[in-house]
Amino acid sequence: MTSQGQFEQQVSAALFAQVGGFFSNTQRGLGFCSVCTAPDPNHLCGQCGSQRATFGDQLADQTLPLAYVRGWMPGYVHQSQHHVRQYKHPDHPSERCVADLQTMITAATYIHGKCIAHAAGRFWEVITFVPSKDRPDDTHPTAGLAQCVTNYRNVPTQRHITLAPGPSITSDDRRPMPDRFAVPDEHRATVKGKHVLVIDDTWVSGGKAQSAALTLKTAGASTVSVLCIARWLSHRWSEHRAYVETPVVPYNALICPVTGGACPT
Ligand SMILES: [Zn+2]
Ligand SMILES: [Zn+2]
Repeated sequence: MTSQGQFEQQVSAALFAQVGGFFSNTQRGLGFCSVCTAPDPNHLCGQCGSQRATFGDQLADQTLPLAYVRGWMPGYVHQSQHHVRQYKHPDHPSERCVADLQTMITAATYIHGKCIAHAAGRFWEVITFVPSKDRPDDTHPTAGLAQCVTNYRNVPTQRHITLAPGPSITSDDRRPMPDRFAVPDEHRATVKGKHVLVIDDTWVSGGKAQSAALTLKTAGASTVSVLCIARWLSHRWSEHRAYVETPVVPYNALICPVTGGACPT
């Protein structure tokens, strides 16, 4: 086996042991939203459909949540919810949770970087993350996730940038807004005409990640891919309830986040 194949086997075995008990791979195809991967009888869920109707191709070109969070389960906190919360606890972040989520990003970009590039037509040249309202700078754990993106086979120029807070950063409106974030002047030339990979932790409505996409497209980025750890599902939402009550199928890092199955190439 090649060293690349060995690394892929090792990292997927490690993730199976670390997060396989509570994370399942996101799914695509019939019964799942093609954008956010939420269980939904339609090709697009309600939120993604209305975002598409408003913003069209100014939204992210591809959105890749890796796993599902089983949120707001009746009477208990599922470990998947605990993990995505504890990794960014403001006072006592869990080192274990941080390490697990970082490994998921490293594995996804190492194993499936070529798939993300295949779908986008080119490799990413710029990496950023969705800033947090409370800690928009690069001290937030999401910035640490972005640092774990693999420089897959030496992508020649892979630059990291940090988006600035925009006027709407404090808005609680869940809809995407082009002015929630801003591209700092010194990075405008960096993103123009480029494929930008945006890293986030949890997709709830997609409002924040899609806001970052709108900001980047407005600044001239040609392609935006969003890679995030988890799609938040909720037992309280009728479209999700049946799915979150099914047993967890252990997370397999070899399953392609682009297709929901085998890699496209
Ligand atoms: Zn959706
Ligand atoms: Zn793949």
